[in-house]
Order: sequence, then structure tokens, then C-alpha cells
Amino acid sequence: MNNLMQNASFDVQQILAKALNNIDVSVDEAICLFATTGDDLSAVVKVANELRQRVVGNKASFVITRNINFTNVCNMGCKFCGFAKRKNEVGAELLSMDEIVLRAQQAWDRGASEVCIQGGLHPDIKGDHYRNIVLAIKKQLPDLHIHAFSPFEIWYGALKSRLSYREFIQDLIDCGLGSMPGTAAEILDVEIRKQLTKDKLKTEQWIDIITIAHQLGLPTTATIMYGHIDQPKHWAEHLNTIRTIQQQTGGFTEFVPLGFVHYESPLFTNSKYKNDLKFNVRAGPTADENLKMHAISRIMLNGWIDNIQASWVKLGPDYAKQMLAAGVNDLGGTLMNESITRAAGGKHGQEILPEQMVAMIASTGREPMRRNTLYQPLESFAADNTQIPCHSIVGEQFSEELHYEA
Ligand code: SF4
Repeated sequence: MNNLMQNASFDVQQILAKALNNIDVSVDEAICLFATTGDDLSAVVKVANELRQRVVGNKASFVITRNINFTNVCNMGCKFCGFAKRKNEVGAELLSMDEIVLRAQQAWDRGASEVCIQGGLHPDIKGDHYRNIVLAIKKQLPDLHIHAFSPFEIWYGALKSRLSYREFIQDLIDCGLGSMPGTAAEILDVEIRKQLTKDKLKTEQWIDIITIAHQLGLPTTATIMYGHIDQPKHWAEHLNTIRTIQQQTGGFTEFVPLGFVHYESPLFTNSKYKNDLKFNVRAGPTADENLKMHAISRIMLNGWIDNIQASWVKLGPDYAKQMLAAGVNDLGGTLMNESITRAAGGKHGQEILPEQMVAMIASTGREPMRRNTLYQPLESFAADNTQIPCHSIVGEQFSEELHYEA
């Protein structure tokens, strides 16, 4: 018996032994792992950590990036979304091309290798708005990686342009798009999506758009939003769907669990929504659920997706770094005024400076590594105990901006 799981129950040991032997864990087995507590849960976490060590070693990475949310106007009405505004509402915003390029330039000047661009589905924008954003940034900053447009935006842009997903994505690639965020996935389950988003972007459409992007050579991330009306069986099935896509395309760069932030999400605060829903809304995931989600993602995606990211924005920096011992090897972006989660009431600030990210990783004994979007190393740092204060800060360098949750 492997001493990583010496006190675990027989069933859990059997499943973890499969994972350690690089055999895919099934949906039912993952559901069993999500039910673990005590010694069983400890074994799950240890095995996830062991698999991480085998696959990516001691390095823990981050990327210097800036979020640019070019509009917060959206009529889609996703129930969890605390970000979207109607066109005439106070605070509604549509950034000009000049402002978008200025923000990208500011990011570049501060050492960013990437900008992450997403927005609401503004009723007035034309389909070519997406390509115009990419062209405008690339004209000024040809070497800046553009990571942009969720599958929901691709769906919308293609619809407005009267192009197929394939034609629309290929055009964006030709304009200079470097990769896509695999957001708007929420939970890839028909019933849950119906409840959350009226299934406007269907599971099959999300899968279709992501698969086409991968087929065209455009990498994407993959995400899950958990801890609302969902259950472990949805998590296991979602992970299985992501793994199946990856087996076919190899196009995912990373998997990012995103815990539901409930404080100002209409899903949680609006009694009308609560009464409409078939399921009870929870106040985000529990601490144990966060731990399990990261560890079981590592276990279930072992051999298929090497990079599991913890979101400091959702978890808070201290808790995110604890995930480095539970299968995680990446802490995501420095972000420069993050506001996706802030709009939903998240309390972990807008930015972590690169030196704080390095200190945060080094304090766990891991080797900090700055990477680019595609996980190529850009800069390595010693794994020492440098004690730079590690706390999220409110960015002062930039004007306030909003961000959305899809
Ligand atoms: S999650 Fe995205 S698509 Fe849904 S309402 Fe918010 S901005 Fe619109």
C-alpha cells in the first residue's frame, strides 16, 4: 500500500491507486472522492500533490496580465451575474478603442505579457467589434499576447457577423488573437445551465466553440464555477467533459476552478431568483469543497491537463497558496485591477504585484516562475523564504473598471 493513503478506506485507496498508476478516474469514482472526509480526504490531497510533483515538479507559476473589460452592458440576464448593467443604467460603460489600447499599453509598460479581454454582450456592438479590438491592440503592441473573448462572446460575435463559429474564430486568429478564456462554462450540465442562464449558451455550443478553437490551433483555458445550485455529480461530470474534449483536441492550457462568490450575486441576494430556482442556492463552496475541487481536478485530469490553477481572487491569497499543496501548480494572473469578482462582492482586492506573487509562492517552499499565457517560462526565482508582505491591494495606478463573471 502506498503510504500516501495508509489510513484511507479501501474504496478510496483503490481509486487513488488507479490515479497513481495513471489510469483515468471515472465519474462515479470522482463522486466518491468528492464525498471524502478525514483520513480519506487527506489521502486525496496527498495523492493530488504527488501527481502534481510528478507532472510539473516544484515550480509554481504566475502570469503578469491585465483584465480589460470593454463593456459591462449585457442583456443576457444570467442569474449569478453581478456585473452586467442595462445600457442606460448608471455605471454602464463601453470603452472606446483608444481607451482599450491605452490600457493595453499601460499593462505592457508594467511588464505584462498578456491582456485578458472580455465584455458583456452589448446590444449595440457589431460583430466586427471583436476583430477591431484585436487589430487595434496588435497595431500598437504586436508582441503582447491577447487572451480574449469567452465562448459566449464568440457565439454572439458570430451571430452578429452571420459567420459560422469556425469562420469567426479563424478571422480573430488572423487578426492576432493568441488564446481564448474557457469561461462561461459555469457547470456544463443542461439542467443547471437552464436554471442559471436559461441555457442561452447551451452546453453543446460551449463544447462546439471550444473544440473548433482547438482545431484551428487556438488554445483555451477551461473553468468551472461551483458552489451555487450544483452538486458533486455535476462537478465530476463537468471534469469528465473537459477531459474528453482534451483527449480529442489537446487544446486546453489549464483548468481553473472558480468558486461562486455570492455576496452581491443576484442569484443569492434576489429573492425572486431564489424562488424561481428549482434548487437551493448556497453561499459559495465550503473550505473542504474548495480543497476537494482543486485536488480532484488534478487527479481526474492527470495525464491530460498539466496545469491546475487556484484563483487568488476567489479564494484570497492565503487560501490560494494553500492549494499549492493540493495539486495546484499555478496562481494565475497579477490582474491589475481585477473586478469580475469584486462586482459579485469578492473581498480580495484587485491586484497582486509580481513581487508579492513571488513571495507568496516562495513562502510555501516552491520555486516561483513567471510564465507566459502558454506556460512557457519567462523568469525563474529562488525558492527561499523572502518575506515580502503578501496581501491583496487596491490598485491605484488605473482608473476603476468593471469585470464580469462569465
Ligand atoms: S455572465 Fe456574461 S453573458 Fe451573463 S449576464 Fe453577465 S455579462 Fe452577460
